[in-house]
Amino acid sequence: MSRYKEEQCRICRREGQKLFLKGSRCYTDKCAISRRNYAPGEHGQKKAKLSEYGIQLREKQKTKAFYGVRENQFRKYFEMASNRKGITGENLLILLESRLDNVVYRLGYGSSRPQARLLVNHGLFEVNGKKVSIPSYLVKPGDVIKVRESKKDRRIVKENIEANGARPVPAWLEKNAGDLSGKVIRLSTREDVDIPVEEHLIVELYSK
Ligand code: SF4
Repeated sequence: MSRYKEEQCRICRREGQKLFLKGSRCYTDKCAISRRNYAPGEHGQKKAKLSEYGIQLREKQKTKAFYGVRENQFRKYFEMASNRKGITGENLLILLESRLDNVVYRLGYGSSRPQARLLVNHGLFEVNGKKVSIPSYLVKPGDVIKVRESKKDRRIVKENIEANGARPVPAWLEKNAGDLSGKVIRLSTREDVDIPVEEHLIVELYSK
């Protein structure tokens, strides 16, 4: 597990920015980006000039890491995004934002997206009264996400709420910390997505 955690920081260092994969540690001076903001490995401190392809690839890798999505699934999201009306890059981000693990994180019920994914996997949440343990489940407007009553892990969620109190909940979600629930008011829009990504680079990469 500790090796896995170290790997998470290596991903941030590879991308040269905080991806907030480790919860509260990301906000302290223990963050690896604060201490060693260069790529891991022997030649990590040498800044190589990236080709156009390299820049596009890094943007995709960074976005995948942010949302914790594997290549196959990311490609599927891209295909779904390009089959929808509107701008493909924006559609892609909206789909990623709609994942249940992201929603749990956005509501402050998970300290990081990786932890939120784990909590969903453990069957901690229900959507509209039914248990959902699939992190990639896509929420839709009107859905109510709630921590299941019977679960002992509710303690973790309560601790997260206290620790994440300052993290704002996006306007497309409504949080009810009283009964540990949240509602999807509407789908997110591009303006709601606060991650530093240039999605057009991903579209260009996949369009080659
Ligand atoms: Fe590690 Fe979090 Fe810092 Fe990334 S932001 S390097 S995951 S502590």
